[in-house]
Amino acid sequence: MATDYDEVRSDVRESQDRSLEALQSANAPDARSVVSELDESDALDDAMTPGGEIVAEELIVQVIPQAADEFTCYSCFLVRHRSQLAREKDGHSYCIECAG
Ligand SMILES: [Zn+2]
Repeated sequence: MATDYDEVRSDVRESQDRSLEALQSANAPDARSVVSELDESDALDDAMTPGGEIVAEELIVQVIPQAADEFTCYSCFLVRHRSQLAREKDGHSYCIECAG
């Protein structure tokens, strides 16, 4: 009986050693690439959420109607006061900073 246990143990050990070798030699790069893919998808998820919010905020800002004494610069797309209007060309307004 005792020898049977030893044989089983040695067999298990060998198979464990073999699977360990297989993991270290063949499967380790695969596991690494899988991990990096997971990290990338996680990073994408993290970047997507704030990015989407920022885009939505920019759209909302552009939808806000400008006041009568304001204009939207056609070059930098910033809403500026009329006093900063430097040039109007082809129906588009340009601020001092962009025209200068
Ligand atoms: Zn401008």
